[in-house]
Amino acid sequence: MAEILDFIREVVAEDVRSGKHEGRVATRFPPEPNGYLHIGHAKSICLNFGVAEELGGTCNLRFDDTNPTKEEVEYVDSIKESVRWLGFDWGDREYYASDYFDRLYDYAVDLIKAGKAYVDALSADQIRQYRGTLTEPGRNSPHRDRPIEESLDLFARMRAGEFADGALVLRARIDMASPNINMRDPTLYRILKVPHHRSGDTWCIYPMYDYAHPISDALERITHSLCTLEFEDHRPLYDWTLDQLDVPSHPQQIEFARLNVSYTVLSKRRLLELVEGHDVSGWDDPRMPTLVGLRRRGYTPGSIRDFCRRIGVAKKESVVDVAMLEHCLREDLNRWVPRRMAVLRPLRVVIENYPEGQAEEVDVINNPEDASAGTRKVPFSRVLYIERDDFREDPPKKFYRLAPGREVRLRCAYFLRCTGVVKDAKTGDIVELRCTYDRATRGGNAPNGRKVKATLHWVSATHAIPAEVRLYDRLFSVESPGAGGRDYKEDLNPDSLEVVKPCYLEPGLAAATVGEHYQFERLGYFSVDLDSRDGQLVFNRTVTLKDAWARIEGRNLVDSR
Ligand code: ATP
Ligand code: MG
Repeated sequence: MAEILDFIREVVAEDVRSGKHEGRVATRFPPEPNGYLHIGHAKSICLNFGVAEELGGTCNLRFDDTNPTKEEVEYVDSIKESVRWLGFDWGDREYYASDYFDRLYDYAVDLIKAGKAYVDALSADQIRQYRGTLTEPGRNSPHRDRPIEESLDLFARMRAGEFADGALVLRARIDMASPNINMRDPTLYRILKVPHHRSGDTWCIYPMYDYAHPISDALERITHSLCTLEFEDHRPLYDWTLDQLDVPSHPQQIEFARLNVSYTVLSKRRLLELVEGHDVSGWDDPRMPTLVGLRRRGYTPGSIRDFCRRIGVAKKESVVDVAMLEHCLREDLNRWVPRRMAVLRPLRVVIENYPEGQAEEVDVINNPEDASAGTRKVPFSRVLYIERDDFREDPPKKFYRLAPGREVRLRCAYFLRCTGVVKDAKTGDIVELRCTYDRATRGGNAPNGRKVKATLHWVSATHAIPAEVRLYDRLFSVESPGAGGRDYKEDLNPDSLEVVKPCYLEPGLAAATVGEHYQFERLGYFSVDLDSRDGQLVFNRTVTLKDAWARIEGRNLVDSR
């Protein structure tokens, strides 16, 4: 398929043509290990690794681990696993900003010596007050003109642990009147007496992201530093930092719009709150937009890559309809997932003219859209389960399925006619249907060309295996959770998880293993959940069969905000 050229791919391809950066392409995916990756990160991963792959370049995996208070090894491990799962390989190019702590420190000393940085004693609050606003310039700190020697001494003593957290900071000395607030002497280093997941107790001062990031990029000789739009205003600082220092290269920062998806939140902070508040079962809850959640739900890496390709890369913020993600998933699953029969809400059917104690095997088509998938044997007997929804005692107009006196087809088996209804004497609930079958319709077709209006899936009650099935709806009940200043948690969908059991599956499914996909005919795509135990399978509904996308095809898939 021809690659869709977006503005970033155009810039990078042009740089290769013109020989900028010696014609090299080097990108990086720079997660902060403070949470699990989500579908928004997939966009960045596909872009960074994709651009490198297409243009014969390299893409580094770099952990931006400059904030020890929120970072953990657990996150590093899961991030690596998710990037690999998505289908990308960073080879031996696994880097950590923390590996550069020594050099970052030395560069900071260079800045001080050049009069481009100073140690400030203002408190965080004071720094905020001095910073000014969008309409008012900031004011110089009284320590801004501190002699270079003094700053050097204080900075060394900050590193040595002589001062308490927050007592001093190192600030760039740029311009307190700059119209860009990021340029008003931003903080470069702060004291944090917190051990780091990699450097341990070696450091008690840590570099700020805006300082560490450009230097890390330059040390790795990145050519194109792709980041999301919120960093656009930080670009002057990115360039300023590199311009002051004797670094091996000067990468070019290019910003693109972050991915937003309707009916969910894509912020690690909020996702962590959902986990910690037990609103979901964990980072890998199948309703979560995290890559581990999507994976557990049954999303395939190919469908996510396809999604990222289709949404493209632009400079304008937008919200992508979650139906688009589901569409990509169905397209993938539809091609290769085997069909099976399962009854989620069983209604017992007794076939009065089928001999008691007898059973037979019928040949059921594995994939109606792919003849080469062949058939399989499924047991049929006197007592079956059908879907409760497939019967109405008093059928409304346009209900063509089973009803008293009516005939339907059992998929690949026989025609079945309902002759009676058995009810619970107390509650009046229907507990069983009495039916007859027509022996002459074996395989599901009448020799005389007699027609029925519906085909139902079914399982043999004595042969079926019970299972638990988890049905999911959107995690949030509104398109933009938390819009208009509401607490986004108020928008959680209370019905996002429905556990159905026992469901009954055709017996061949007893051999299903964790992670496998099946289409349950007429019900959707399902995958085997990792909660499955011997003798107790648990299935997740990955996605329903109906392509809501078909109905909204006329609509813009990306709503611009
Ligand atoms: P969050 O806001 O969800 O906490 P983040 O931007 O703080 O995310 P990082 O770990 O810093 O998370 O992100 C790593 C990379 O992924 C960055 O380059 C970031 O720009 C990119 N990224 C994060 N969220 C999105 C998104 N929704 N769409 C596209 N790229 C994203
Ligand atoms: Mg971040």
